[in-house]
Amino acid sequence: MDDALFTSDAKLTPYWWDTVQTPRFEEQPIPAVADVAVIGSGYTGLNAALQTARAGRHTVVFDAEDAGFGCSTRNGGQISTSIKPSYATLARRHGEARAFGLLREGQQSLAWLGEFVRSEDMDCDFAVVGRFHAAHSAAQYEALTRAIANQPKGLEVEAHAVPRAEQRSELGTDVYHGGVVYRQHASIQPARYHQELLQRVIGAGAQIFVRCPVTAIDKDGSLFRLTTSRGAIRARDVLVATNGYTGRLTPWLRRRVISIGSYIIATEPLSPDVMTRLMPRNRIVSDTRKVVYYYRASPDRRRILFGGRVSLNETDPRVSGPMLHAEMVKIFPELAQTRISYSWHGLVAYTFDELMHVGRHDGLYYAMGYCGAGVGMGSYLGMRVGQQILGLKEGQTALDGLSFQTRPFYTGNPWFLAPSIMYYRWRDNRA
Ligand SMILES: Cc1cc2nc3c(=O)[nH]c(=O)nc-3n(C[C@H](O)[C@H](O)[C@H](O)COP(=O)(O)OP(=O)(O)OC[C@H]3O[C@@H](n4cnc5c(N)ncnc54)[C@H](O)[C@@H]3O)c2cc1C
Repeated sequence: MDDALFTSDAKLTPYWWDTVQTPRFEEQPIPAVADVAVIGSGYTGLNAALQTARAGRHTVVFDAEDAGFGCSTRNGGQISTSIKPSYATLARRHGEARAFGLLREGQQSLAWLGEFVRSEDMDCDFAVVGRFHAAHSAAQYEALTRAIANQPKGLEVEAHAVPRAEQRSELGTDVYHGGVVYRQHASIQPARYHQELLQRVIGAGAQIFVRCPVTAIDKDGSLFRLTTSRGAIRARDVLVATNGYTGRLTPWLRRRVISIGSYIIATEPLSPDVMTRLMPRNRIVSDTRKVVYYYRASPDRRRILFGGRVSLNETDPRVSGPMLHAEMVKIFPELAQTRISYSWHGLVAYTFDELMHVGRHDGLYYAMGYCGAGVGMGSYLGMRVGQQILGLKEGQTALDGLSFQTRPFYTGNPWFLAPSIMYYRWRDNRA
């Protein structure tokens, strides 16, 4: 790559992929029958498979690409409570009890993931580092501080405001108008977590078939018949865990998720001095813009990983890299000469109500639509839907039964994306 902003050995693949070994799988014949078939080998699919395999169900997992090829090995590794709409918005739409339950479920997903990686003794750099959520305007700072001072009773989270005058204790920049620290938010090495999970799923007896897309699902008596590129299989229960990669296989779901590219870069190694100045507390960081930027230090604190949406339409990481770099330099001007070592992207799944969805349609289980926040929630809902497949009561969630909306004439091609981003950018600039 000759662009001066890239290092000579820069890669257009995730930084994380260079930190773990891509698992290799023996070619094995696809069994004729299984109890549970999972489509998609990310956090959702694997957490479900772990539940069903450990309960003794013959479980098979298919991925069209390598294991974890989707967002689960591409993300920023920031873990929050994942529910984007506020209590007021949710209460208006669904009533107070449901709003309470949904936000509670989000908190539970964060707590559960921490407990899960600890109890499984996973080597994945999980750390409760806290999030600095930066206000991009004075009005947003006021709104953030008001929100933490008036948290709904029973849903209080540990948070404190950091005014602009003290901001440099959190982040080496003056561009923001202060922010709020959510002390329970955490970071993880996403690909290592995925690999640790995969090992446990295999250890529990599940079979993984990679580079093996499922191309059709048909009803076959009381079972489902899945056609794959390597043969057919019949299964009693099927989970669709394809999130932003949901395609023509499941048209009903495709009409309900909006696949959007999220783009990210990793810088070349920085000196310890620079890292201490820019990220003194090692927080994960996001800002209040609707078209959000999110960033963090790599687990070894040598690089900054900076992500967000830079273009109206989907683009190439060769193009998005320099655009993200420009945004990063607006926040940290001293990184103007720092080059990019990795630039990549993945497809996240938004939904029309900005909530994730779990349930069953035509007998097929699904869990998806994390709106860019699926590390904790994808893992958690995967685990819950696995319990639902087992018929366990604890599989129930506050998201059960929520209508999974689509829009007239929407078939999976988000033609409205560019105008929506333009509108949100305009709104961000006014706020
Ligand atoms: C750049 C980026 C940064 C992100 N940062 C964060 C973050 O910091 N925090 C956070 O919480 N979330 C983040 N996310 C989102 C998060 O990574 C996802 O929500 C989460 O990984 C979704 O997991 P999943 O298992 O549902 O789907 P995925 O991991 O995307 O897996 C879906 C899989 O389905 C497979 N598939 C699709 N169709 C078929 C088929 N027909 N047959 C077989 N297999 C099929 C795909 O190949 C894919 O591997 C980010 C995402 C991106 C792209």
